[in-house]
Amino acid sequence: MSNELRTEIDAWIDANWDPDVPVREWWQRLSAAGFSNPGLAEPFGKGWSRAETRILAAAIRENGSIGSPAGLGMMLAAPTILAHGNESQIQKYVPKILDGTDSWCQLFSEPGAGSDLAGLQTKAVRDGDEWVITGQKVWTSEGQHADYGMLIARTDPDASKHRGISWFAFPMNQEGVDIRPLREMTGRSLFNEVFTKRHISAKLAALGFVLAALSSNAFLAIRSSQPFGTLISLRDRGMSISSRRRSISLIKSSTDRS
Ligand SMILES: Cc1cc2nc3c(=O)[nH]c(=O)nc-3n(C[C@H](O)[C@H](O)[C@H](O)COP(=O)(O)OP(=O)(O)OC[C@H]3O[C@@H](n4cnc5c(N)ncnc54)[C@H](O)[C@@H]3O)c2cc1C
Repeated sequence: MSNELRTEIDAWIDANWDPDVPVREWWQRLSAAGFSNPGLAEPFGKGWSRAETRILAAAIRENGSIGSPAGLGMMLAAPTILAHGNESQIQKYVPKILDGTDSWCQLFSEPGAGSDLAGLQTKAVRDGDEWVITGQKVWTSEGQHADYGMLIARTDPDASKHRGISWFAFPMNQEGVDIRPLREMTGRSLFNEVFTKRHISAKLAALGFVLAALSSNAFLAIRSSQPFGTLISLRDRGMSISSRRRSISLIKSSTDRS
């Protein structure tokens, strides 16, 4: 089976890889074939196991071609939205993650909310057709290059500490978002501080994901049945998504996006 799969993938790479094609177009080809993130279910991926995914990675490497777009959008945002988003949310966000058009960062950590993520203070308050999101995030890897942030904010101050927290797809390039790179001793700036005081439109808010932090490392996003999100007990649903802290480098800035 693995030999057959490898032969099939090699044939696809032979037919599609061209070093003269811009990275952007190559990523579109990978994405259209379901090879960007083949562990995802069809039609976005191939529904492959980890072992099958490794065969693809080896074929790409050994054929000298370029891998699929990396980063938090691919690893965390796309699977979360596919699992819990509605059809229009999926269509709006997922294809652009898979073909490298949009990169995402993670706006979880705060000065007072690291290991204990449920200590987060960033607030999202409903104001007519908009949300007003106010707060400070920190350790935002590659936030200065990202198109969207997965932002979690407290939407129900009366709920217990591990509840009343919602997940937003937050456009980074908008007025009211202040991204301040943190200079490391190497001279490089991987991390950022991100300050927000921003009204975002109801359409964006209607993502309707509600996220309850169970602990610093595990969380679960629930698709809301209401436009603005309904808090649902995660344990009642018996579902979980693990979010491990990782060092992740988005590669948007080093690719040809023309
Ligand atoms: C390479 C890297 C990239 C990151 N990228 C992002 C990102 O893109 N977006 C983002 O939101 N965050 C990111 N983070 C932040 C990360 O996910 C954690 O939230 C953060 O590093 C932990 O918070 P803190 O530094 O405030 O440490 P703290 O939570 O204050 O912990 C400090 C120390 O105390 C220990 N500790 C904490 N609580 C307890 C307890 N109850 N009992 C015993 N010991 C305890 C911890 O183990 C640790 O050793 C990144 C971190 C790293 C290292």
